[in-house]
Amino acid sequence: MQRPFIENCFCLTPKRVDESLNRIGRRIGDNTDFERKDIRYDYEEVNDEYSILATVAGNEPQRVRLETIETWFGERQYFLCEGCNARRHKLFLLPGGHIFRCFKLDTRNSIPRPGMEECLIGPEG
Ligand SMILES: [Zn+2]
Repeated sequence: MQRPFIENCFCLTPKRVDESLNRIGRRIGDNTDFERKDIRYDYEEVNDEYSILATVAGNEPQRVRLETIETWFGERQYFLCEGCNARRHKLFLLPGGHIFRCFKLDTRNSIPRPGMEECLIGPEG
C-alpha cells in the first residue's frame, strides 16, 4: 500500500469546519469547504451529542462525532476517529479518498505510526 504522507492528505479540523460555515460571503445553504468545493459539512445534534456530517464528492455522508474537552486553556473540540476510536484534533482524507480518519498519521514528522492499517480498515471493514 502506498504510504499516505500528510502533505498529500486533506486535513480536517473542527476549526476548518467552523471557518467554512462562518466565512464571510457564504450563501445560505452553501456548506462547502472554503477551498474544496467537493466537500461539504453539516452539523447534527442528537441528544446533546454533536456530530459533523462530512460529504465528499457526493458520497454517503460520514458522521464524525465531536467531543468537547475542557482544558486549562479553555474548551477544545476533538473528533472521534471511527477507525480506531481515538480522540483526534485532526482527521485526514487520503488522496482520492472519501473517508475521514486519523490514519494514525504523526503530525510531527508526517510518517504513519504503527497501526495505520487497522485504522484504515476500521470497524466496518
Ligand atoms: Zn484512527
